[in-house]
Amino acid sequence: MTDTKIALVTGANKGIGYQIAAQLVELGTTVLLAARDRERREKAAAELGAHPIALDVTDPSSATAAAEEVGRRFGRLDVLVNNAGIAGPWEQGPGTGAVDVARAVFETNVLGVIAVTDAMLPLLLRSPAPRVVNVSSGVASLTAMSDPGHRLAALPAGLAYPPSKTALNAVTVQYAKALREHGVLVNAADPGFCATDLNGHRGHRTAAQGAAVAVRLATLGPDGPTGGFHGEDGPLPW
Ligand code: NDP
Repeated sequence: MTDTKIALVTGANKGIGYQIAAQLVELGTTVLLAARDRERREKAAAELGAHPIALDVTDPSSATAAAEEVGRRFGRLDVLVNNAGIAGPWEQGPGTGAVDVARAVFETNVLGVIAVTDAMLPLLLRSPAPRVVNVSSGVASLTAMSDPGHRLAALPAGLAYPPSKTALNAVTVQYAKALREHGVLVNAADPGFCATDLNGHRGHRTAAQGAAVAVRLATLGPDGPTGGFHGEDGPLPW
């Protein structure tokens, strides 16, 4: 079995995921660049010297097939970065009948993470130092969103994306609790507001800056935290 760390990043064909993959390659990690579109993942993987893996996080059979392929080719997984995410239209707030939008966003941002993490778990448990990073958002924080004085609370009250990331943080805590005894460190990362397709490139940070937060959590030492929500400057309030 190789000593080189093996990391899988979902939604890694562009944006923050692509930069997470790039930074992990730079650290000497064997990166499995997971994405749903064949052409986009093969192009991105070739650019970075990574291995393309087919994965649509909303399709459990795709997650199972990806895990089988990783097992067959690499034997284990050291790092899983659940980065794939969608925003949906922000203006779909209370009173707009946003059920379908919320369902689609939760399907990707929450249920997709559960499906992929569960599929990869047996491979993570074969790693000597497994790490799971869930790419969350500052809008996940109930402390921030319920404080009228907080800059994030000034955003429109979307019923899909912010609650999906709050749920993702809750899912992170549950995985961290369940996997603590197995040495798996599971944390949520807030990349900050980064210029990507997700927000029409309005973010004031680069995708590479956002990626660095997730990479730090993906490369934690044995005494690193688990079950936390972290931004660039450290732990964030729930
Ligand atoms: P992008 O829109 O640039 O990238 C999103 C990625 O997710 C794409 O690769 C996309 O693939 C992939 N994706 C979406 N749905 C699926 C799916 N069903 N299966 C597989 N892949 C999928 O956005 P960002 O890079 O900004 O977002 C990355 C993460 O960072 C998300 O979780 C987002 O919520 C989070 N985030 C982003 C912030 C920002 O300011 N940009 C702030 C806080 C959090 P495809 O190309 O096929 O659509």
